[in-house]
Amino acid sequence: MACVTYSYDAPVSQTLFDRAAVVTPGGVNSPVRAFRAVGGTPRFMVSGTGPYLTDADGREYVDLVCSWGPMILGHSHPEVIEAVQAAVARGTSFGTPGEGEVALAEEIVDRIAPVEQVRLVSSGTEATMSAIRLARGFTGRAKVIKFAGCYHGHVDALLAAAGSGVATFGLPDTPGVTGAQAGDTIVLPYNDLDAVRHAFARHPGEIACVITEASPGNMGVVPPLPGFNAGLKSLCAESGALYISDEVMTGFRVSKSGWYGIDGVEPDLMTFGKVMGGGFPAAAFGGRADVMAHLAPFGPVYQAGTLSGNPVATAAGLAQLRLLDDAAYERVDAVSAELRGLVTEALAKEGVTHRLQTAGNMFSVFFTDEDVTDYDKAKAQQAYRFTAFFHAMLAQGVYLPPSAFESWFVSTAHDSAAVERIAAALPTAARAAAEASA
Ligand code: PLP
Repeated sequence: MACVTYSYDAPVSQTLFDRAAVVTPGGVNSPVRAFRAVGGTPRFMVSGTGPYLTDADGREYVDLVCSWGPMILGHSHPEVIEAVQAAVARGTSFGTPGEGEVALAEEIVDRIAPVEQVRLVSSGTEATMSAIRLARGFTGRAKVIKFAGCYHGHVDALLAAAGSGVATFGLPDTPGVTGAQAGDTIVLPYNDLDAVRHAFARHPGEIACVITEASPGNMGVVPPLPGFNAGLKSLCAESGALYISDEVMTGFRVSKSGWYGIDGVEPDLMTFGKVMGGGFPAAAFGGRADVMAHLAPFGPVYQAGTLSGNPVATAAGLAQLRLLDDAAYERVDAVSAELRGLVTEALAKEGVTHRLQTAGNMFSVFFTDEDVTDYDKAKAQQAYRFTAFFHAMLAQGVYLPPSAFESWFVSTAHDSAAVERIAAALPTAARAAAEASA
């Protein structure tokens, strides 16, 4: 038996964490950062360059979290930094319309055909919250279908059986969300079109929308089965409901036009965040012009934000998107494929049963012996093996998401030196996973 021993060789991070715990609940501003699922001291990062992060103790890590997706060009990309510095020098927030917002909206509309109009917000949570409000306002219906294991931010109505931190901590439901707020949410198993069909049959004329991650990454990477998204789209169309594809994670990451660029299914509404903000708080929702026309000030559905379309955030997002050409996606895809090969090889060599699942250049490892197609199967994995694997990688300077229920992210900056460091760390981590016990 090999109990995992955590190396607490991060004294400065530990001191900062102790300080943080006094003034901030759990010492963090977003739960998964606290390492609760894997144990040990969360590393407080002080800088990032290319594929590397440096922590407060001066240790460098190859970063496979990339700020949970946004940093697709790596950290401190010179052209993004330059755009940000130029924007900051002009002023940081005006509370008026500005050209940067128009240019970013045009870039999004140009890349993603189903998006005829787009509204900028400051977080993915705001985007999904606003999209379902708009869907309800447009259809005059109340009910929303979501899928177990899909995470759409911490919107009250969408926290039921959510992925990401909710999955990491095994929270069944979240206190503070009332029955009234969640009562119109129908939670169904992912990849189960029959369940969706039955829900529509049981609630005729009541369902405003189906919201789904375009390809889920918040219960680990669980791509839609062939025909699933297309089936959702046609069930929605038959019933007068809207099909909302949440591309906060996949948007501008898995292709120039996100998951839509891979499966081609046209949503009525879409949500974006992460990559489009270039490391700043910028997000968006958009879609059919006739639906978007229901938004204030044109239409009656209210939605607003003091910092929406912030000039610094839009400058960062625009600079990042403009750098994301075909060659950039080819590079990210190639790094992802190389790493997947290395991870599989290392785990296989140690006889560790696992499934490495992929959605474009996103991937994650499940320590299980069957393909993971839904949240129940994701939860059935031997997560304790991930804990051992995670700490062995961390000790060797590779920063993975501190949870078995998250996607791993790479960037154009992950060059051969970074890949070699990961390759060198994998055999020890695979051995740790093999020797781990529950
Ligand atoms: N939707 C998806 C698919 C996400 O992955 C996330 C965050 O991870 C969100 C929505 C919420 O975005 P934010 O954390 O910016 O509020």
